[in-house]
Amino acid sequence: MLKKETKDILEKSREWGWVLEPDAQKIFSLYGFKTPKYNVAKTPEEAAAIARKIGYPVVAKIVSPAVVHKSDVKGVVVGIKDDQTLIRTLDRLSKIDGFAGMLIAEMVKGLELIIGAKNDVQFGPMILLGMGGVGVEIYKDVALRMAPLTICDADHMIEGLTARKLLSGYRGSEPVDLDALKKTLMKFSKLMMDMQDVVESIDLNPVMCTAKACIVVDSRIMLKKKL
Ligand code: ADP
Ligand code: MG
Repeated sequence: MLKKETKDILEKSREWGWVLEPDAQKIFSLYGFKTPKYNVAKTPEEAAAIARKIGYPVVAKIVSPAVVHKSDVKGVVVGIKDDQTLIRTLDRLSKIDGFAGMLIAEMVKGLELIIGAKNDVQFGPMILLGMGGVGVEIYKDVALRMAPLTICDADHMIEGLTARKLLSGYRGSEPVDLDALKKTLMKFSKLMMDMQDVVESIDLNPVMCTAKACIVVDSRIMLKKKL
């Protein structure tokens, strides 16, 4: 069963066929996923107030129904340290097609993973786990399972990654909280099952994992075309 707030967001997003990042992040936090602190600004005053409340450094991102892949249009700026840079960024992003606001988020650190779901014609909802960044693009290091996932599936997905070693801390890097990662996968599988009638695919890219938590840093929900 979908929560009313989630239904409202999905309904409103039908117009352009996908859920904008701030709305998608809202759904994920409603479902108990960890997300960075964020808010959306349209004016320099709003932007400065939000960034100070979150605490510099922050990330700024374009919010626009016309922009699905924000980095492709230089719509993401990480590590903003002061009002001046923030306001200059707002000025630039506000000229991008369909500008509906600038999302300002807390900077998060961690190992970048990807969690995704796709509604397969043959198998129904499929869940994907992969290493973020070049892990997915170059090495195609991913694990796939049919939803709903069992805890055993979640275990096997993690163990099946070629870069599995990175998760337990490699050459001095911090190990990842595997229990939090498993719980995130299970919760994600449940959310996809709840949404399978209306959703085509979901991408959490990246999810940043540390020794303490897994945080959904970017999320995109593509809706099914209306029949
Ligand atoms: P898109 O996938 O639409 O291009 P993202 O929101 O994923 O945009 O941002 C691009 C990259 O910027 C991410 O892969 C991540 O490396 C970095 N990034 C985005 N948001 C944050 C954040 N809150 N903290 C740290 N890094 C971030
Ligand atoms: Mg992304």
